[in-house]
Order: sequence, then structure tokens, then C-alpha cells
Amino acid sequence: MRNITLGTLAIAALLAATPAIAQPAPPVGPDASKIEVKVTDLGQRTYMLEGLGGNVTVALADDGVIMVDGQFATMNEKLKGAIAKLSNQPIRYLVNTHYHGDHTGGNDLFGKDGVVTVSHVNVRNKLAGGWSNALTGAKSPALAEGFFPKQTYTDAMKLELKGRVAQLKHTQFAHTDGDTFVHFADANVISTGDVVALGRFPTIDFSNGGNIKGMITAVDGYLALSNDTTKIVPGHGPLIGRKELTEYRDFLVTARDRMAKLVAEGKSEEEAIAAKPYADLDVKYGANEQASRNWVRMVYASMKM
Ligand SMILES: [Zn+2]
Repeated sequence: MRNITLGTLAIAALLAATPAIAQPAPPVGPDASKIEVKVTDLGQRTYMLEGLGGNVTVALADDGVIMVDGQFATMNEKLKGAIAKLSNQPIRYLVNTHYHGDHTGGNDLFGKDGVVTVSHVNVRNKLAGGWSNALTGAKSPALAEGFFPKQTYTDAMKLELKGRVAQLKHTQFAHTDGDTFVHFADANVISTGDVVALGRFPTIDFSNGGNIKGMITAVDGYLALSNDTTKIVPGHGPLIGRKELTEYRDFLVTARDRMAKLVAEGKSEEEAIAAKPYADLDVKYGANEQASRNWVRMVYASMKM
């Protein structure tokens, strides 16, 4: 068992006075009235849906639909409308790749329609028990029971409908402590959740089990399942393939190795921030000063676990 608690508490105390930054959104979510759902056909009756919040994957079976992530509650009607255009079958399962509100905010409303929500057990524990964010000092209370996933698993789980299989697999201590990726082998599609987020620095939710080392291990797992025609649905950002996923892994390894060097030199967190170890990447990822500091903090915290 890793010694997370003491480090997390110390960091929380240190950061309690820092200004608020972007954090997992509340379950209801922002106004989505002007959002249009963009549907990308991945082949083999499998689709990527983009709206507001994390990317959604939809797999159609003969007797129902499997969904991966449900965005915010405010996207519920729009997502249902987009899926109804693809299939006249009911949505049977909604998988949560992790607990953040931009992926689980739809749980309650989909659940009321009879959709079975499914996740790693730590997602349910988090939503039922509340959580805190050491980066911001924010504390989030437990959600209402309607948001809790109805079925949970610990290592792996298979969801089967007529003609379709979704293989769910847990990867330890990556974006959070409850990450699931979903493999639709028949369509050669992998839905990663926020372990892969593109176009900005990814988030490592280190106060809730996130760790850059686990993110690299998780990405290695996706690469092992992929070939040149695999379609990878990231948690945020555009659909990618194996080549882009390999580049993303290289970025994570670079970030880890540079920080490992600073930590080995005995640098404190503030000294690591001052060293600007990712100045070149800040430019590439369009990071402002705050995003840059946060990325250093998240990687630094990872190296201390
Ligand atoms: Zn997330």
C-alpha cells in the first residue's frame, strides 16, 4: 500500500490558499443549450459522440446500446436524441470511465430511464463518500444515490448484448484510482477515459489516486491491444490512432523523466516549479502560467507516491 494520505494532507494544507482553478464540474453541469452533438462513425456499429464534457462511445447491439460515459446532466436529452437516430433499441448500459462530473453527471437521468450504470468500485465509493482536490483545496460532498453506479467491478468485467461485447478493464492509479478503459474488439475501438486527454496538459487527479506512472502503464496496455487500424477514443480531444497514442506516451515519459531528475536532485515542489522543466511543452500545449504550474505540481506529486 502506498503512503498517499500523509503526502496528500500536506499538499492540501500547502495549497489551501491558492486560487481556484478548473476542477471536476458539479453533476448538473454547465448550460448545454447551444451544444450540438457531433457523431463520428467508427465502423462496426460503433460511434464517438462529442458534446459538452468527456467524449462518449456508443456501441449498437441487436437488442440494445452500450454507452461509455454520459457527459453532464445538461447533455442528457441531446445525447439520447443522437443515439435514437442511430438505433431504435434502448440504452442498456452506461459505463463510467471514472468519477469526474463531466463523465458521470448523466448517471441519474439515464438511470431513471432504466439504463444500468457500471464502473470500477472506486467510482461508486467516491460518488457515495465525497472527495477532495489537493490542487485546489476544494471538497466535494457525496452525490445523491441516483448518481451511484449500479454495477461495480474490481479488475475486469464483460458486458454482453446480442451481437456485441464490451470488455471493461481497470488500470491502477492512473488518471484517478478508479479508471476503466473499454475495448470493443469487434470494432477495434478502445475508449480510454481521461488517461488520454489531448490538446492540453492531461489532469492527474493525484489526491484521488492519480499518478503519471500509472498513466504510462495504462497507455502501454492500450498500445498492446492496438494495431495500425485501431481507433482510440480519448477522454477529451479528437479521435486518434496508434501513432498519436505512441506520441502521447512519449510525452508522458518525457514529463516523468524530467521530474524524476529534479526529485533526485532534492528539489522541493516550489523549486521544481521555478525550474520550468516543461517550458517547451508549455508552448506546444498552449499552457498559461497556471496550467503550467498545475502540470508541474501533478507530476511532482506523482513522483512522491
Ligand atoms: Zn477526468
